[in-house]
Amino acid sequence: MTMFSLLGADLLMFLRTWKEAHMSTFVYAFILSLSGLALLMVIIRVVQAMRAFLRARGRRLVTCPENHCPAAVELDAKRASFKALRGGTHFRLQSCSRWPEMKDCAQDCLPEIEALGQGCLVRSVVAGWYKGKSCVYCHKPVDNVADWTGHLPALMGPDAKTVTWGDVPPEKLPDVFATYQPVCWSCHIAETFRREHPELVTDRPARW
Ligand SMILES: [Zn+2]
Repeated sequence: MTMFSLLGADLLMFLRTWKEAHMSTFVYAFILSLSGLALLMVIIRVVQAMRAFLRARGRRLVTCPENHCPAAVELDAKRASFKALRGGTHFRLQSCSRWPEMKDCAQDCLPEIEALGQGCLVRSVVAGWYKGKSCVYCHKPVDNVADWTGHLPALMGPDAKTVTWGDVPPEKLPDVFATYQPVCWSCHIAETFRREHPELVTDRPARW
């Protein structure tokens, strides 16, 4: 065996070892990249699903195209979320105040919901009505939505009875807003107590 053939054998062995070592590194890097990409796609889909759920949830106030009257509807947020997780979209109603009588309607209100977006959420509609208004009793502003947690503002009807807007069926709110006046939560509680327990309330003239 000549010196050249020995050197050639060593070189071949070296190349083979180098190739095996680096090929495994390449394979690992490739698998790792694929795993990272797959994980990224899963994260993107989960975020899209959460956004779809948040966009679709909540009761909305629409004008029913069939009778042109207000209707309270809810989108199917859960199915919209599952569809988004699989890369699709789902934009259908889950409930309507006109169901079950109109359960098989064509859901022609969906374009209105799509156009108005979050603006037709009942809470947004209510906040719009209270905006700039003050309590009819104490004259304190009632339009600070941040104060509404657990203390919903109320309304006083033509019969002088007060009721919180959360107790009014959403589809009745447009009619109620036309004839009722805004009342703050504190005055609503006081007026309710006064109405239900008149024997425990004594009105004294104010001292100046
Ligand atoms: Zn008040």
